[in-house]
Amino acid sequence: MTYRQIKYFSFPGELLMRMLQMLVLPLIVSSLVTGMAALDSKASGKMGLRAVVYYTVTTFIAVFIGIVMVIIIHPGKGTKENMAAEGKIERVQATDAILDLIRNMFPPNLVEACFKQYKTQYSTRIVKVPVLPYHNNTGFQSHNSTEAEEEIVSAVNVSDIVENVTRAMGKLQEMMDMEEVVPVPGSANGVNALGLVVFSMCFGLVIGKMKEQGRALREFFDCLNEAIMRLVAIIIWYAPIGILFLISGKILEMDDLMVMGGQLGMYTITVIIGLLIHALIVLPLLFFIVTRRNPWPFIGGLLQALITALGTSSSSATLPITFKCLEENNGVDKRITRFVLPVGATINMDGTALYEALAAIFIAQVNNYELNFGQIITISITATAASIGAAGIPQAGLVTMVIVLTSVGLPTEDITLIIAVDWFLDRLRTTTNVLGDSLGAGIVEHLSRHELQKKDAEMGNSVLEE
Ligand code: ASP
Repeated sequence: MTYRQIKYFSFPGELLMRMLQMLVLPLIVSSLVTGMAALDSKASGKMGLRAVVYYTVTTFIAVFIGIVMVIIIHPGKGTKENMAAEGKIERVQATDAILDLIRNMFPPNLVEACFKQYKTQYSTRIVKVPVLPYHNNTGFQSHNSTEAEEEIVSAVNVSDIVENVTRAMGKLQEMMDMEEVVPVPGSANGVNALGLVVFSMCFGLVIGKMKEQGRALREFFDCLNEAIMRLVAIIIWYAPIGILFLISGKILEMDDLMVMGGQLGMYTITVIIGLLIHALIVLPLLFFIVTRRNPWPFIGGLLQALITALGTSSSSATLPITFKCLEENNGVDKRITRFVLPVGATINMDGTALYEALAAIFIAQVNNYELNFGQIITISITATAASIGAAGIPQAGLVTMVIVLTSVGLPTEDITLIIAVDWFLDRLRTTTNVLGDSLGAGIVEHLSRHELQKKDAEMGNSVLEE
């Protein structure tokens, strides 16, 4: 099958992806605003704190697993000239990466935040690099370099880095001998979700406090949220067909992908083992320890969301389905899902964090570059920041890897070493991300049950009084 035929074949899948993405923006905003408005600031503060503690703990555990796995298995053999050790590469401080993340929480222009996928660094710089090319045989879509789409991507301020990545992408295009052009699905359709999340939460909190004055707005967002969820219910009928085509289209593309052997094969296996340990042992165990409930029926209820994550490689696109699974199959309180899920899908990416730390150390190994303890700590911090900053869209983690690599002076063009398997690993880490968010919602609900009951009792009393 030619690449074009495969694209025609997977068209129903592409449609699903678009439908889901279409709902993400109003879903994030309406669910967060209504979620926050329904709680008083004390209750939401406590819940928020629990969610943030859960996100931080699980992300650091994920990073730790990634680091341990890559050090034990040691998939990278020093085969390249040691560029990193010569200190030729400009470093970016971890502090800058974190400041940048905070900067992005406050988008100066809300409308712009709705369509700008990645954020510029140090507030002023905007750089353009070509969209990552895909090739049918290596997991990347074929591109005709003359028509390569351009897109704003985060580059860590240093123009050298941008140049490196651009050069690396150019090299990749040459290597791949490309014929046709197809843009990366979904990649042009992102938002600065972090900024919108922060705004919607504050907005919800404020209109929640406005009592009678804020009523119209509360009702508006409530109604919007309800309408969006009804649309989700319709799309859910179509989802299995879309996912079937998304995944089978990908399998058709795979023909000679399996050539990856040696280091890349070992690297892939290391990432898979790390993700499996985190998703199937650590997270369920944590769920059991906190809630004293068997995690497997809960995970069973999430199956459709997990398969959607696998099919779409996007935790944002999966968000509508995650909502449905948690609320309808697992009976998680809407006040929790509305609040915890959009935030989780934006900032809690265990799979991405694990992957970024692991990949950076793999690249160091290939470069024969001994990392000291301080540098490993730097990688843990920047991998966490990069996972928070990554949008929930396909292969976002690959782009934010630039931050991790530059923080310890590793060559950013070496991202090309792992690009060939990223489409596959992206699906697995996205599934882990969605699982982490969903189990987190279950855990936060359990820990917040007293506040929820209290709120229910208050509501009951006020209804009686009326
Ligand atoms: N695709 C991932 C997600 O949507 C992000 C990543 O590239 O790691 O969760």
